[in-house]
Amino acid sequence: MRLYRCAKCKERIRGDINTVGIQCTNCGTKMFYKERPNIKKDIKNE
Ligand SMILES: [Zn+2]
Repeated sequence: MRLYRCAKCKERIRGDINTVGIQCTNCGTKMFYKERPNIKKDIKNE
C-alpha cells in the first residue's frame, strides 16, 4: 500500500490515487506526491 500526500495542504490521501477524479478531501487539489514511508529494517525484540 502506498501513501500519498496532497501537494498543497499535505493532507494524507487515502485510497487509490489512480482512480480518475480523485481529489484531496481537504482542499480539492488533484496534485499529490508519493510519501516515503519510513521503513524500519531493524525490527528486533530485545
Ligand atoms: Zn489538499
